[in-house]
Order: sequence, then C-alpha cells, then structure tokens
Amino acid sequence: YLIIIAFTLMGCSQNKVSTTKTNVEEKFIDSVLATMSIDDKIGQTNLRGTSSRAKTLSDDLKEDVRQGKVGALLNVMKVEFVDELQKIAIEESPNKIPLIFGRDVVHGFKTIFPIPIGLASSWDTEVAKSSSRIAAIEASSVGIRWTFAPMLDIARDSRWGRIAESPGEDPYLASVLGKAYVEGFQGDSLNNPTSIAACAKHYIGYGAVMGGRDYNTTIIPEPLLRNVYLPPFQSALDAGVATVMTSFNEINGVPATGNEFLLKHVLRGELKFDGFVVSDWDSVIEMIAHGYAKDEKHAGELAAIAGIDMEMTSRAYEHYLKDLIEEGTVTESQLDAFVKNILRIKLRLGLFETPYRDKNNEANFYKKEHLAEAKEAAIKSSVLLKNKNVLPLLANTKVALIGPLADAPLDQMGTWTFDGEREHTITPLKAFKEANVNFKYVPALTHSRDTSKSQFKKAVNDVKDSDVIVFVAGEEAILSGEAHSRAVIDLPGVQEDLIKELSKTGKPIVLVIMAGRPITITNIIDNVDAVLMSWHSGTMGGVALQEIIYGFREPEGRLPLSWPKAAGQLPYFYNHKSTGRPANEKDYVSMYEIPVGAWQSSLGNDSHYLDIGYKPHFPFGFGFGYTDFRYDKLKISKDTIGFNDALHVKVSVTNTGERPGKEIVQLYTQDVVGSITRPVRELKGFQHVSLNVGETKEVTFSISVKQLEFTNHKKIHAAEEGDFNLWVGPNAASGLKDTFYLKK
Ligand code: BGC
Repeated sequence: YLIIIAFTLMGCSQNKVSTTKTNVEEKFIDSVLATMSIDDKIGQTNLRGTSSRAKTLSDDLKEDVRQGKVGALLNVMKVEFVDELQKIAIEESPNKIPLIFGRDVVHGFKTIFPIPIGLASSWDTEVAKSSSRIAAIEASSVGIRWTFAPMLDIARDSRWGRIAESPGEDPYLASVLGKAYVEGFQGDSLNNPTSIAACAKHYIGYGAVMGGRDYNTTIIPEPLLRNVYLPPFQSALDAGVATVMTSFNEINGVPATGNEFLLKHVLRGELKFDGFVVSDWDSVIEMIAHGYAKDEKHAGELAAIAGIDMEMTSRAYEHYLKDLIEEGTVTESQLDAFVKNILRIKLRLGLFETPYRDKNNEANFYKKEHLAEAKEAAIKSSVLLKNKNVLPLLANTKVALIGPLADAPLDQMGTWTFDGEREHTITPLKAFKEANVNFKYVPALTHSRDTSKSQFKKAVNDVKDSDVIVFVAGEEAILSGEAHSRAVIDLPGVQEDLIKELSKTGKPIVLVIMAGRPITITNIIDNVDAVLMSWHSGTMGGVALQEIIYGFREPEGRLPLSWPKAAGQLPYFYNHKSTGRPANEKDYVSMYEIPVGAWQSSLGNDSHYLDIGYKPHFPFGFGFGYTDFRYDKLKISKDTIGFNDALHVKVSVTNTGERPGKEIVQLYTQDVVGSITRPVRELKGFQHVSLNVGETKEVTFSISVKQLEFTNHKKIHAAEEGDFNLWVGPNAASGLKDTFYLKK
C-alpha cells in the first residue's frame, strides 16, 4: 500500500484531527478492506485484554496476532511486549495491519495528576489540557496510542464510586472540560507520535445508576438525556474525539451496548461520529445477565445490529459474527463498516506509516515540567470549604501533622493509576519534611478504615505542644472507583472519633480531605476550624498542600458538584427542577425543634427533609481562597433580546481582602417558564479573574440564544420565548440577579 499511504498521510497531516471523512482516507481504507477475508475483518473488531501482571507474552496471544485475530490490545504492560506484538502484526499477520495499544491513562501515566473530579474542581481548561497532554507524552513513549478517557459521565450521586473519575454534575462544565481533555490527549494532530486517541466514555447515562450503585439500571427520559447527559459527548465529538465507549448500564430497558437508537440514530446519525465505537469490558456478553440477550451469539448479534465496532475482552464477535453473517442476520457490509471505522482511526494515528513508538520520545517520565504541572493542577483542584481565621499558617506555627492520609503514597494517587509509582508520590509528610517546616508527625491511624482507638491517648498527648493540628483524613483509593460505591459516605473507620478527641485540646484543627468523592462531614464540621478538599491529588499532592497551608499559594478550586450533608440527600444537584412546593430556608425547622405534640401543619409543607433541610452542605461552584471579593454593577446589554441576538453581561469584581487572589466568576440563567419544566439554575459561563488587593475588574460574558436551547418532550430542540433570570456570582447558591426577556 506504500504509495497510497504516503499520499494519504500527506493529506491527513495537513489537517487538524479530522472529524470528517476525506476521500483520500476512504480510498486507502477501501484498498485495505479489499484484501481482507471475513476472518481478517472480524479480527480487527477484537480488542483483546491481557493480564496486567503477565510476566511473559503468551504464545497463544502471539499466534492470534499472527493470524490476524486481534485488532487492538489493552493493558500490555511491558514495552518490549508492545514492540514484539506490533512486529508480528505488521510483518506476519495476513494484512499487515498495525495493532492499537490501549490503556486507561485517566489522570496521568507515570506523573499522576489529581483524579478527574479533582481536575474538574479547577474549572480550568488549561489544566485539563496540559494534564492530558503530559499523560499522552508519557504513555506514547511506551507505545500506548489509545486511552480510555475522558470519562464524561455526569455524576450526581456521591455514593457512586466512579464519581471520582467524573467531571461532576454539570453538563456545561463537563462539556468544556471534555473538549480540553480530548485536545490534550490527541494533540494538534492524531498523526503525531505523542498523540494518543481519546475515548469519550461511557456512552451513555452510566452516572445515573440508581442509588449510586455501580452498573445499576438507569431510567433517563429523552429530554434529560439530551439536555444533561449528551452535551459532554457532543463537545468531545466537536473536538474530534477518535473513539467512544459504550457503558455497562441499561437505559430505559435497553443496554447501552445493544442500543441501536443511541448508537446508530444519535451518535452516528445526528452527531456524525466517524471514529470507532468500542464496548466496555465484557459489556457485550453482559447483555445476557441484563436479560436482553439469550446467549453469547445473540449478544453478538444485538451488539452488531446496534453498531459496536470493536468488542472489548469478550469474544462474541470472534465466536459468532461469521455465522451471523452466513445466516444473514448481520450483513457483511455492516462488518465492513466496523472495520472501516477502526482502520480510519489507525490511519489517522499514523500507525500504517509509523507503527512503532517514537524512539526519541523515551524516558519522558516525571520530567521537571511534568511535576510542575502536576503540582499546579493539585493547587488548582484544592477547594477550601471552611476557614475560621486559621489558614494560611504563619511560617513559625508549630504544626502537628496527623491522620491516615498524611503519608499514604498509593492512596494519594487515587483510582485508575496503573502506572504511577508510589515511590514518586510526595505525600504531605514528605513535603513538610522537604520544606523543613516546624512540625511534628503524629502517627495515629494506619489507614482510613482503621477502627482501632489504641493510639488516641498518645496522639492527644503528642499534639499538646503544637499550635495547630493538620489532620489529613479521607478515604483510601480503593474506596472509590469502579465497583466501589458506598452507601454511607462519612469518613470511614474512627477518623471522626479521633477528630473529636483532638478538638477537646482546644487546638485549631485544619481538616484536609483526600478522597474520591465528597465526604459528609456534618458530624464534625463544628470540631474543625478549616476544611480543605484535596481529593486524591496525585504525585505532587503533598507539595501542593504544603504550599497552600503555609500561604505560598491559595487553594484555587471550586466544587464541580454539590456537597451533600448526608447520603440520604442523594442524588443532589444544583440544577434541579423546582417542586410545586419549593423549600423555603427561612421556614425550615429541624425535627428536633418541633414541639412535642405539634401538628404537621405547623411545619411548613414544603420539599425538605425533617432532619437536615434541603440544602447541600456546600453548593456547586463553592470554594474560596485567602481573600474576599465583592460583586457589583451587574449590567446586561438589553432587557429584551431577539433570537438572533446575544446577551452581553458585565459585572465588577473587587478584591476587598488583604492578599491578591483568584476568583472564578460564574454566570447562571433560569428559563422561568418552559414547554417542559426547566432547572432552577443552569451554568452558562465562567471566567477566571486575578485581582490585586483593592483592584476591581470588569468581567464580561456573552450568552448566545443557542445556549438557551433545550429539548422538550416533543423532541423539539429550541430556545423558547419568555422570561429569564440571570445571576452572576461565586457559586450556584448566590450572586447578583437580573432578568431579561427572549422575544421572537
Ligand atoms: C471500565 C472502563 C475501562 C475498561 C478497561 C472497564 O471496567 O468500565 O472505564 O476503560 O474497564 O480497563
């Protein structure tokens, strides 16, 4: 194919990541396809898993690659194996088609960045982009050219373990971050040795699993699907994402992996996706347990009809696709379409021309710039939730550093870190030592689930000569991530008890939380003076924390989700609908304040919980640094806008505190009356602003009518004439307000 390839690649490399098929590409793909037997074609649809612990390469796998039975591989952990398998594929397999090597490079490869929900707290597309760019540079150096990221599942239930990997609860924030991740992983052009194909996952609705229990059923009416769950995928597609992974869950009775409507009609038809669709791990044959397919063959048939191009780990296609084609249940042209989609991405990755990793791109791990970016990302992901005049600490403060996550290098990296190494993780303990600060380490709990109180007395004694206690609490990495949902999301073990004991000393306590989800801290919020959410902050998390605590930097993150008071409030999200009886904070009376014998009618019959009201502990968008801001002079360009207009919004933000600082200015709207009910608020824009002491800046936004569109129950996607509310402020629960009218 050499001449055609050269010609094709010339055409491709001039483009950015292509999202539309080009004739040159299609010509090349057709020419390869013409040489392939049905067996060869089925081979391309096979994404074979390997054991991440395998010390040797199995002869069976080599033989399968030699025979063209494998199109892609995941988790080949050794670079020599990657080279050897690729060599077999391009020298000995029937069509000499290169393999793609995939891996879950989710928040860093060797240099580990904060977990995605942490990165989402930065609200910063540069952070998303640079973290995924560095991950791609490091991963591609060992031959990985495909990552199963970004995960774009809107997640509104902190019990769900995979909230750690999610962009949070808001479709707008998830969409802008999703685009940035794709741009980072895929670089300027897929056809670049340090670019890796991204995978928008999990298509779709996985975050809506009932009760936050992983893999559970979802029920998502079409307006909700289109208004909330789809936009991040649309955005990743707009950025040219190369692949899409289907999810494990069923939606309204049909598993996502066998869902013709979602794959053929929406993804291919409406969104014009031209990369390839991969199933999730065994999700094809899981359709049997779902009660949707009667056996493996039927599962393969349903997946093929729905439009799964590549099957991950299970082998229904390998075992049955040929029979299904011979029987006429699936057509060969359907299989051809799968293979073309796969070859298109292999071609765009430049694998036909340069199948091997770039030898110049070696030993790129933990480079100084990578570590600097990882520290930056951890600072930008840290969210300060409470600060009663304790942070930042003065340089000579005597600190007692305590808590099970203060020196937990593995846990600090968080979920999905196959390649990160604990020896490279700088924990708070290590960072405090390296910075030579005035502190003592007080070991008390060995891990987050430790239930032993045996060290409590000693710990209380040991902190007595300190000025401030820094308690690094949280969850081990294993308590979040896939299949790791929790029903109770308090600090596990006896961490709360220890905090309460320590608070009796009267020393101020800075509670640092390292966790994969928001942790309910209602029971201890009054025992601590500051709360800093670090998430699982990655390789440089300890350094970031040390710099924040001592005020070299301020925490810059804002919550990408609502932080619940209790798991019983979940699912909770700020952009909910209003009930017919909206809760009214001022009428709320806790059940403990209700006089004994009172009649129900005295309670205020609105939508709340008797024990905790209705508000989250901290709203979406919340968090602060070390200074204060004043918002004033909100001005909109017009009170009435037409369908072809844009609304321009201005607000003045002033730093009224005593340090320079950064603010994330957030703009929300509400469509007051709609053909279907509309959320009480929706994020439509945000901007980062840096202000010196006393400085004022005017922040401007422009809202297009397109941003006010939604899909209603009649499948009409449009903005609707009527009144809108608009807020600009520091989070979803406050802000300056104005109104405007959208007129036909
Ligand atoms: C997960 C995916 C992941 C895949 C490969 C599955 O269990 O759901 O997100 O990419 O495994 O590791």
